Amino acid sequence: MNFKTVAIHAGHNPQEHLGAVMTPIYQTSTFAFRGVGQPGPFDYSRSGNPTRKALETCLAQLEGGTAGFAFATGMAAEATVLMMFSSGDNVVVHDDLYGGTYRLFESVFATKQIRAQYVDLRNATKLRAALAAGPKAVWVESPTNPVMNLVDIRAVSDLAHEYGALVICDNTFLSPYFQRPLELGADIVTHSTTKYINGHSDVVGGALVAKDPGLAEKIGFLQNAMGTCAGPQDCFLVLRGVKTLALRMEEHNRNALAIARWLEKHPQVSAVLHPGLESHPQYELALRQTTGSGGTFSFRLRGGEAAVNHLLANCRIFTLAESLGGVESLIEHPATMTHASVPREVQLKMGITPDLIRISVGLEDLSDLIADLDAALAG
Ligand SMILES: *Cc1c(COP(=O)(O)O)cnc(C)c1O
Repeated sequence: MNFKTVAIHAGHNPQEHLGAVMTPIYQTSTFAFRGVGQPGPFDYSRSGNPTRKALETCLAQLEGGTAGFAFATGMAAEATVLMMFSSGDNVVVHDDLYGGTYRLFESVFATKQIRAQYVDLRNATKLRAALAAGPKAVWVESPTNPVMNLVDIRAVSDLAHEYGALVICDNTFLSPYFQRPLELGADIVTHSTTKYINGHSDVVGGALVAKDPGLAEKIGFLQNAMGTCAGPQDCFLVLRGVKTLALRMEEHNRNALAIARWLEKHPQVSAVLHPGLESHPQYELALRQTTGSGGTFSFRLRGGEAAVNHLLANCRIFTLAESLGGVESLIEHPATMTHASVPREVQLKMGITPDLIRISVGLEDLSDLIADLDAALAG
């Protein structure tokens, strides 16, 4: 079955649910045993819940993995996968990544002696040098947030595997509709389902998908032992969202690319960072590794702080807010909002300068969105 069909049907068989065409919300903490010593397929909702199972099966199939796991948030998914490692282990981490992931490594796992070694994964020589120190895993995010650099997932995976390191890839920005890291060689995919997978800005959630059964077993054990799973209501909402993922991603991509091309010609814009533009330094890699760029990208503005504040304050349709991937368009200032927890000197190294603006282009009418930016950029 192909992507759109899997997104709508995987994980649910109406005949197993009194004919219900939509997955019911199993709002129950516990399940009756069939008899003494005879549990049914589910016994307690931390260990497993039918609504969650439907979502987990669907996500596993969309990413091409053997098993999926749904979590309370994207950070819960990340924290759970990192608990596979032990004190003294190190993980090679792309030096440009989501601010919350950076904080998790630096403020939580570093204090437990699980250390991140930051490397520019676009540089194979530096990666090889880092791998020589025997890391347990390489953590990839592509495209990176907010500067939209790409990492060659296949090349990094091949090299990491030569040294026996796992590859974990955060696929939040593109979703499995535009990029399938497991097919490119990664071992585990992580998601904030809060973003495109749910797509309606009404849930926080996370997911992990593992390629092989051994890793799936470890993750399943940790999800149950740590209790980081998602609740059934949230799983229902994410399941509803994922059914339209293909349609939404196509439209996010179309709107965003059109706005990126329009911004490229705007005199107040000094750079547009979008992997679907021919001007992006890794445009060739984008064509090879992805089938689209999604709805989120960044640009740099001329005119200093005043110009930035003017734009942020004067948009009417673009809402000033963190997050991304919803049907509505959002605009934000990474240096003071999403990436405020990253120290300033690290921000600057990552390219998060004060003139950088990130937008999440939603599904509104394209001409309304352009008119909104045009009016807010004027004056
Ligand atoms: C939002 C986000 C996360 C964290 O997910 P939450 O659901 O907010 O916990 C992780 N990685 C990326 C790339 C994100 O955009």
